[in-house]
Amino acid sequence: MQGKTFFIDMTKCTACRGCQVSCKQWKNLPAVKTKNWGSHQNPPSLTPVTFKLVRFNEVNKDGKIRWNFMPEQCRHCVEPSCKLIMNMYVPNSVEHDAKTGAVLYTDKTATIDLEPWEMCPYNVPRRDEKTGVWSKCNMCIDRVQNGMKPACVTSCAMGVMQFGDREEMLAIAYERLAEVRKKHKDAFIADPDDVRVLFLGIGDPADYYEYLSADTAGL
Ligand code: SF4
Ligand code: SF4
Repeated sequence: MQGKTFFIDMTKCTACRGCQVSCKQWKNLPAVKTKNWGSHQNPPSLTPVTFKLVRFNEVNKDGKIRWNFMPEQCRHCVEPSCKLIMNMYVPNSVEHDAKTGAVLYTDKTATIDLEPWEMCPYNVPRRDEKTGVWSKCNMCIDRVQNGMKPACVTSCAMGVMQFGDREEMLAIAYERLAEVRKKHKDAFIADPDDVRVLFLGIGDPADYYEYLSADTAGL
């Protein structure tokens, strides 16, 4: 299945959080009350009403400080382990849209009593404490099925995010990787064969987020 894919060039991200806000706006999701926990990353992690979160990491490399910003979300995996596991517990609780490749949760997930990392290698899904229903990014499937791009993609003034047919996005991502590698030999794309959200970054993937480190591949 070709389907759709995001390309997220983290080397261009300024952490303005426009994508995080536009996700909330389009989905009419409430804000989450937080307190200062010593980081601009707010809320501290994904929540049942926060499907897009800009992660902030301060990295000290040889005495030089670099900010790593990662607009985190569900990767819409090519072979989603969450779907495999949740559907073992409750059949048809997770759907996989044939045309786009979007991984879609239903309210049938409410009875599944697992930890996020037991279902997802990227620790993405979150469970509503009251209803029990699991949630995450759904690729703005309502927009995409009507020929529009996901809300987060349209909000980014820095050109960090692109969205389109998978082959086209892979080609753009590898072209950009080759360009970035002229200056940064350690540039990478995380898990390109496995996911529909291609994250391009520099250095150790775990310096962006510990769950970005798995099976990272490059050219
Ligand atoms: S809107 Fe773009 S620049 Fe701003 S945080 Fe999101 S990805 Fe980064
Ligand atoms: S990133 Fe996690 S939640 Fe998203 S499709 Fe993959 S396994 Fe499922």
